Amino acid sequence: MTETFSVVIVEEIPAVLTSDTLYVSLTYSTSMHLCACGCGAEVVAPLSPTDWRLTFNGTWSLSPSIGNWALPCRSHYLIIDEKVHWAGNWDDDRIARNRANDRDRKDKFYDLPTQGDEKKPHWWERKKHKKK
Ligand SMILES: [Zn+2]
Repeated sequence: MTETFSVVIVEEIPAVLTSDTLYVSLTYSTSMHLCACGCGAEVVAPLSPTDWRLTFNGTWSLSPSIGNWALPCRSHYLIIDEKVHWAGNWDDDRIARNRANDRDRKDKFYDLPTQGDEKKPHWWERKKHKKK
């Protein structure tokens, strides 16, 4: 199990990752690490205003939490000041709610203000429609 991560800034994420290391690519605006539970799964956390945020105040923190719901281990943790803080397992309802919130947040960020109350398609659907 990983207790602390050190952050390494890289141009490209290496093919083989070391546990205890959070790889950050500024070029690709993404981060990658091996799951803190030790299962060996590679976890990608893209960095953007609507994804993850990496902060540095002498030590690094990544927020919000990493929830590996798609992995068999279903581990859930925060990386604060390079230390792993374990968070509780979420039930499926809570995961679904969180996904919906995520979508909402992305919609609000990428959408222009709407007129009226008509239901808007998601931005990626709108992109598809425009192509037609
Ligand atoms: Zn794991």
